[in-house]
Amino acid sequence: MTRPYILCEANQKQISERKIELAVLPWGATEPHNMHLPYGCDAITVTRIGELICERAYGDGAEVILLPTIPYGVNTNLMSFPMTMNMNPTTQLAIIRDVTTSLKQHGIRKLVILNGHGGNDFGFVLRELYSCGVFMVSVNWWMVAAEACGHLIENKGGEHADEAETSWGLHFFPELIGPLETADDGAVRPFRIEGLGKSWSKITRPWERVTTQGGYGNPHKATAEKGRLWIEESVRQLGAFLVELSKAEMDDTFPMA
Ligand SMILES: [Zn+2]
Repeated sequence: MTRPYILCEANQKQISERKIELAVLPWGATEPHNMHLPYGCDAITVTRIGELICERAYGDGAEVILLPTIPYGVNTNLMSFPMTMNMNPTTQLAIIRDVTTSLKQHGIRKLVILNGHGGNDFGFVLRELYSCGVFMVSVNWWMVAAEACGHLIENKGGEHADEAETSWGLHFFPELIGPLETADDGAVRPFRIEGLGKSWSKITRPWERVTTQGGYGNPHKATAEKGRLWIEESVRQLGAFLVELSKAEMDDTFPMA
């Protein structure tokens, strides 16, 4: 049975019977994750999150539609790893410009960019396209449940192919995950210059110098159960967010109270 809230599965009859208010655009990356997770990890995970939150929101009366996932992310700093596929920030801007133009022509004026990759930063896109006529919000899905579920993670401080990301993978696609013994412990080099480690500075980190084989954080204590709990909390919070955003009137004071 097709799911009418997923554009790739819906047919014109289903779409033409709806008044869609809100589109969700999942955005991943194609890059190595230590030695054990698949290159499509971010894209597959963010697609599944998108499906689950749209299913939940649609069930709760939200007029949402899930757009096809963009599978390439900003990876300029991982290009020394084999088969990393980079998409530049300005290309992402061009894609979002075209997506919002299409949405606007179909009368859809709200877009959630559902981000699944830390190297994607849509802040400048939101500023440049501020007046495009589509209200845009960028959501880093993995941050939503970080406060509620951070205690599940035993080896903290990870960022990439770590215990949390591996746990999400074990929940969604255990069949695509290589033996955990192939992953190293994800140790990282500290900065030489103290200020580079402060929250007030920001660089694009040379990933092959930061990490030993691409992983940031130790994945060895990952479990499917940790992944399930984290995902369920994320879906609960994001589903409610989509319902509220979908139903919000775009009046003179939107999005303020
Ligand atoms: Zn990832």
